[in-house]
Amino acid sequence: MGKQEDFVLRALEERDVRFVRLWFTDVLGFLKSVAVAPAELEGAFSEGIGFDGSAIEGFARVYEADMLAMPDPATFQILPWRGEGPSTARMFCDIMMPDGSASYADPRHVLKRTLSRAADQGFTFYTHPEIEFYLFKDTPVAGAEPIPVDRSGYFDHTAQSHGADFRREAITMLESMGISVEFSHHEGGPGQQEIDLRYADALTTADNIMTFRTVIREVALGQGVWATFMPKPFTTHPGSGMHTHVSLFEGDRNAFFEAGAEYQLSKTGRQFIAGVLKHASEISVVTNQWVNSYKRLMFGGEAPSYICWGHNNRSAMIRVPMYKPNKGQSTRIELRTIDAACNPYLAFAVVLAAGMKGIAGDYDLPRGAEDDVWALTERERKSLGIEPLPKSLAEAIAVAEHSELLAETLGEHVFDFFLRNKRQEWEEYRGQVSAFERDRMLPVV
Ligand code: GLU
Ligand code: MG
Ligand code: MG
Repeated sequence: MGKQEDFVLRALEERDVRFVRLWFTDVLGFLKSVAVAPAELEGAFSEGIGFDGSAIEGFARVYEADMLAMPDPATFQILPWRGEGPSTARMFCDIMMPDGSASYADPRHVLKRTLSRAADQGFTFYTHPEIEFYLFKDTPVAGAEPIPVDRSGYFDHTAQSHGADFRREAITMLESMGISVEFSHHEGGPGQQEIDLRYADALTTADNIMTFRTVIREVALGQGVWATFMPKPFTTHPGSGMHTHVSLFEGDRNAFFEAGAEYQLSKTGRQFIAGVLKHASEISVVTNQWVNSYKRLMFGGEAPSYICWGHNNRSAMIRVPMYKPNKGQSTRIELRTIDAACNPYLAFAVVLAAGMKGIAGDYDLPRGAEDDVWALTERERKSLGIEPLPKSLAEAIAVAEHSELLAETLGEHVFDFFLRNKRQEWEEYRGQVSAFERDRMLPVV
């Protein structure tokens, strides 16, 4: 038993923990949890906890259903929302097959495998997500438009606003779980909030995002409101994105930084951007995985619709933020496509793989877009070589089906399951008769 395991076993006693929740994530990014008694943990660390993988979306076919959840002691945390008294704790798990090999269906494994490929080239991948979400007054009712908790807008500070109270409680809870928050503010839509997590290695960030979504929903329920990460809940208000700042480090040196270079951006940084741009359409089905995701990407509202990059250009898909001289370590790029309803493990894996491809293939970075790309005409965009992102889930699936990069990164099992699931979602959606059609047609046809 290692040091970390010992620490967990001691903490269980000292903190009077009665339940340990073992957390993992299914292929679509939903959190799964199984509670075990503390007495089971010593065995769980050495042999894992068995569960039926066929019950989890995307995990196993029925005839190979036995799987093991192996808790990662580095992720041990007491859950703060379970109140005083006997505590509940959680740990994220790696999913294993009965023979002890890693499960190819486990999104955490997909990310770990991609991170270790980058590590073979000497790189560590860091991410910093800006997570947006809406708060509604009530639990959603089928067919009814939700009512936001306030009517405020970007950076508004309103007296007694629900959003500010909400953010204070949520951030306190996140910090008590060791998840540092850097910024938080009211976002552009009514009831829309943003909370930005601190930079960390991508595996920690992905775990933190899963925890974040759970905390936000718990705090919302506790305050009698409803939180959603749905990418575009309203036609006329901005969607919720998860802009993610990323960088590569070589040891403790930021590999994107080069003193004196344009925007302080090194050759590695430029190649990484070029890789993400070139493969943006192929990985879109993962970074923007829902029918609804594509409604956010066509609205403007600072969500991107075109494949381009720019320095401080908020209409671009990748933005190189304003840099501070002498702060080379913070050189990074902001990827603005990802939405808050993605599977963060898979999304980070495909972004890293695309960027690494740019480095390995020595891709050339196209010219940055200086203008507002929405304001350009179709023709102007064409002449600048600026292509659109997929306009629907169907378009994203069509490109993804032929993507070697995606198949290689996700692995055959996740790749097949994911695309099958997404085709099914599209087919169900395609058959829906919407209010839009009725409202347009019934009065006149
Ligand atoms: N809500 C916008 C989006 O969907 C982003 C707004 C911003 O933070 O710039 O991407
Ligand atoms: Mg924002
Ligand atoms: Mg941003």
